[in-house]
Amino acid sequence: MAGNRTFTMIKPDAVRNGHIGAILNKICEGGFRIVAMKYTKLTAEKAGAFYAVHKERPFYQELVDFMSSGPIVAAVLEKDNAVEDFRKLIGATNPAEAEAGTIRALYATSIGENAVHGADSDENALIEGSFHFSQTEMF
Ligand code: ADP
Repeated sequence: MAGNRTFTMIKPDAVRNGHIGAILNKICEGGFRIVAMKYTKLTAEKAGAFYAVHKERPFYQELVDFMSSGPIVAAVLEKDNAVEDFRKLIGATNPAEAEAGTIRALYATSIGENAVHGADSDENALIEGSFHFSQTEMF
């Protein structure tokens, strides 16, 4: 059965470009409830740990540098079928391939600087949410 929580980050490019408000609006209009949220900045060490699954990929260092280059918004979101529905709302990794109206089609600038993160499984949503929030910070 699909879980009802996912984890997202509004990435440094979207924060720098002034899109926090518009992206949160899309998230709320999409029917997601905010369970936890914080405005924060990842150290290179934390960004490296968060994306450890991509360690062997050629873009890993670029990704770590980018994700620690400025503040982000991290959030846990709730909705039926949250992980899949949120991936639909954000669109493909490469904004050039993202469906019109999706968050990445609207606000991402490149495959690397693609405005938002969305967990890709219920298991990862739980791990990633716990990486940023304790149980007492989730409401
Ligand atoms: P998604 O975020 O859509 O789940 P991936 O898990 O494949 O995508 O990649 C994680 C993140 O790594 C992407 O969101 C993007 O920021 C970055 N990334 C992926 N592919 C590339 C690439 N070819 N070049 C640079 N950065 C990339």
